Amino acid sequence: MAYQALYRQWRPVDFSSMVSQEAVVSTLRNQITTGRIAHAYLFCGSRGTGKTSTAKIMARAINCESPVNGDPCGRCESCRRLLGEESMDVMEIDAASNNGVDEIRDLRETVKYPPQHGKFKVYIIDEVHMLSASAFNALLKTLEEPPAHVVFILATTEPQKLPATILSRCQRFDFGRIPAGQIAGRLRQAVEGAGGTATDSALNMIARAAEGGMRDALSILDMCLGYQNDVTDDLVRSVLGTSDRGFLFRFTDALEFEDASTVMAMIDELMRAGREPMVFAKDMSQHLRALLMAKTCPDDLASLLDLTAEAAEEYVGQSEEMTVTRMMKMLELFMSVETELRWASSPRIVLENAALKCCLRTQEVDAAALNDRIAQLEKQVADLTEKLKNGVVAAAPAKKEKASDAKPAPKKADVPKPKVLTPTGRSTDETWKEALNLLKKTDPGVHSFLTQGRYIGCDGTLYRWEAAAGMDFFATALNKEDKRQAVCKALTEAAGVESRFEAVTAGAGQKQDDGDDAFVAQLEQTFGKANTMVQEDAK
Ligand SMILES: [Zn+2]
Repeated sequence: MAYQALYRQWRPVDFSSMVSQEAVVSTLRNQITTGRIAHAYLFCGSRGTGKTSTAKIMARAINCESPVNGDPCGRCESCRRLLGEESMDVMEIDAASNNGVDEIRDLRETVKYPPQHGKFKVYIIDEVHMLSASAFNALLKTLEEPPAHVVFILATTEPQKLPATILSRCQRFDFGRIPAGQIAGRLRQAVEGAGGTATDSALNMIARAAEGGMRDALSILDMCLGYQNDVTDDLVRSVLGTSDRGFLFRFTDALEFEDASTVMAMIDELMRAGREPMVFAKDMSQHLRALLMAKTCPDDLASLLDLTAEAAEEYVGQSEEMTVTRMMKMLELFMSVETELRWASSPRIVLENAALKCCLRTQEVDAAALNDRIAQLEKQVADLTEKLKNGVVAAAPAKKEKASDAKPAPKKADVPKPKVLTPTGRSTDETWKEALNLLKKTDPGVHSFLTQGRYIGCDGTLYRWEAAAGMDFFATALNKEDKRQAVCKALTEAAGVESRFEAVTAGAGQKQDDGDDAFVAQLEQTFGKANTMVQEDAK
C-alpha cells in the first residue's frame, strides 16, 4: 500500500476524534441532534485548525441514518459511501485553484437536483475568499434562495476578504489555533502509531513551530520520521533549521547581548540554508513588532496577533529583557534593510551591516560626529529663533528673501487663533495635557501608548491623536474600545464636558494649513519628528 501522509492518516473521522475546537463541535453536534441544520455555514480560522475536517464530518453527520450524539455512525450506507468518497452528494470545490468560476457555474446548474442517496447535498467550498467577483455573484444568487436539500459549508483563512452579502447569509464559526499541548498529544499518538519513539521536548518543539496548526505539525513529524524512527531534539532542530521561530528568538537574544560573533555565525547559517536575506529581514521586522506589542500590551497580545497563549508568553518573556527604545531602533534597522535590499548588489552585506549596527550600540558613539551634530543643531535653533523673532515663517527657502524684505504679508500664523475654552476653563490644549496627567496615574499603559505619537488638535469635543511614522499599530490599539474609553474618560474629566477621542495612523491626520505645515516640517527636521508636538493655539 502506498504511504499515506500522517495528516491524512490522522484526519479525524468524527467529532469525538477532533482535537480542540470544543465550542464549534458542541454547537454543531447540537444542531445535528435537534435537526436544526442551517443552509450555509462559514468556517473561519488559520491553516490546519480543522475547518475542512469539520466540514467533512458535518457532511456525513447530516446525511447519516442514525447519528450517535451528533456524530456520524460510520456504519450506515450513507456513511460508508461518503467515507469511501463514492458519493456525488458531497462536492468539494477548491476556490484557490482557479477562482472557481466554472465550478460555481456548474454548481448553479446541479444545485436544483435532489441528492442521489442521502438527505442533503453538501457543497464544501475551500478558501472561499479566493473566488472571483463573478463567482461570488453566482454563489450569492444560490445562497439567496437555496433549495431545501442543499447545505453550503464555506471555509476560509481570511473572512475579512468576503463580501458582506455572503457573510450575512452564513452561520459563522471561528476556529482558534490549537494549543501546543494538545498538538503535542496528537503527535505522541501519531509517533507511536507509526512505531517510532520521541522525546517530549522534541514533540513540544514541533508543536510550537506549527503555531497552532495540526496539519503543519504532522507534516513536520512526517519529515522527521523520514530520517529516523527515533525523533530527538537534535533531529527536530535540524529539520526545522532556520525556518523556525526559535531562530528569531535566538537571533534577537544575540543582538540584545551584543554578541557579534554569534550574530555573524547565525547569518552564515541562514545563507548556507539558502534563506533569502529579504525574507529574513521581513521575519525579523515582524518578530520585533510582536516584541514591541508584547512590551506595551502584554495582556492583549494573543488576540492582537492571533497567537496561542504559549507563543504570546514567549514574546512577553523576551520583551521583558529589552527596552522599547532598543526594540524600536532594531525595528528601524531591519525595516531599512527591506528598502536597501531592493538596490543592493550584495544582499548579505546589507543584512550583516544592519545586524552589526544593532550589536554595536555602545561602542559606536563617535565623539566627533556627535559634536558636528550638536553644532549643526545649535545653528538651526539660532536660525529658527531669529525667524520667530521677526515673525517670519517661511514656507519654502525660495520665498524667504521676499518675506524678510519689506512688506510682511498678513500670514495666518501672525493672527492669534481664538482660544477655545472648555467648561473647566482650560483651553483644548491644556485639556489634552491634563488628560495625559490623569492617564499617567490611572492608566499608565494607555499613557505610554499616547507617547508613541502626537496630539493633532480638537474638533469641537473630538480630540485627535496621530501615531508616529511606523507606529500605526498604536493607533489600532488605542482605537480598541477599552483603551478609547479610558482616554475619553480622562478627557471628559479634564474638559468638564463629554469628550471623544480618535487615534489616526501616521499621515492620516495631516493638517491643511500650508504655512503651519512648512513651519512644523522645519521644526521636525531640526528636532526630529518624535520631539516635535504641535499645539493648535500656541499663542
Ligand atoms: Zn451513518
